[in-house]
Amino acid sequence: AGILNFCANNYLGLSSHPEVIRAAVEALEKFGAGLSSVRFICGTQSIHKDLEEKIAHFHQREDAILYASCFDANAGIFEALLTPEDAVLSDELNHASIIDGIRLCKANKYRYKHMDMQDLEAKLQDAQKHRLRLVATDGAFSMDGDIAPLREICQLAQKYDALVFVDECHATGFLGPNGRGTDELLGVMDKVTIINSTLGKALGGAAGGYTTGPKPLIDLLRQRSRPYLFSNSLPPAVVGCASKALDLLLESNAIAQSMAAKTQRFRSKMTAAGFTISGKDHPICPVMLGDARLAAVMAEDMLNRGIYVIGFSYPVVPKGKARIRVQISAVHSDEDIDRCVEAFTEVGRKHGALP
Ligand code: PLP
Repeated sequence: AGILNFCANNYLGLSSHPEVIRAAVEALEKFGAGLSSVRFICGTQSIHKDLEEKIAHFHQREDAILYASCFDANAGIFEALLTPEDAVLSDELNHASIIDGIRLCKANKYRYKHMDMQDLEAKLQDAQKHRLRLVATDGAFSMDGDIAPLREICQLAQKYDALVFVDECHATGFLGPNGRGTDELLGVMDKVTIINSTLGKALGGAAGGYTTGPKPLIDLLRQRSRPYLFSNSLPPAVVGCASKALDLLLESNAIAQSMAAKTQRFRSKMTAAGFTISGKDHPICPVMLGDARLAAVMAEDMLNRGIYVIGFSYPVVPKGKARIRVQISAVHSDEDIDRCVEAFTEVGRKHGALP
């Protein structure tokens, strides 16, 4: 019956969508394989400008700037924006690329406990002595599938005069009523200042990242952001994929809704079978097992039953919190979801994870 992939970030299944593939081929034929240049020399084509405009429109922001990856977008922003007189306040479980980006800047660094608003408030109070404050968080955290309390973060940011930065890699395209992301889901689209996200997950899955936000910020990044200034521009085929993926999402939220329904199906059937699934409503569904060896052998046995999943253990997740991270996609059928749950149930019983 073939192997079903349940561990990709291909949340909307757009990486194999025929229109997305056709758009990539057309862009390749019309605009060539690549630009052999960074953006500001001869690496900007009409499609790069169009995609930046489309991204800004999608997120309802003023402007956007493309990068080769979201890792690069995160590596570029903090150093370009913050000086030694400023402060950055970062959730302790933020993605490695945010951590590295913050390391590169000379601002004063505060790390608040994961999604702990009391701790964030205490750190914001301490950071009042600095010129500018930036709170940085993942919108959805990829290890646990949990969603940042953006409403509370934005309230605190308002109270203590801070800007809010959100990494939306695991939210863009499918969270919120129109798939705009965590800020739409939590009703704070007008309060989050800066969004960084990827084109390499839900939006076609090829590669690429971006920052979207106020125009003066994007202008500043074009002048100062090192991964933008010193790295090749996105290849036309990649731009074509992402642009078509956004067109499809701007037309309709049916794909995102179908993924959400399948996520509910998986989460409720797995919970009924006796498993503990971390997070809530997110297509990242970590099946919590605790023991690292159990996670590894169960993942191996799942593959023997045609289900491709991976066990995560220390140091990727804390000790004693090993898990198998399942990711649901719009291209999974209900039968695929049921086949995955059945395989988990068999394998869980065999290895003692279920009674
Ligand atoms: N931020 C988060 C939260 C991620 O999960 C990832 C990818 O794993 C990135 C940034 C980096 O994205 P990209 O693959 O576009 O570099």
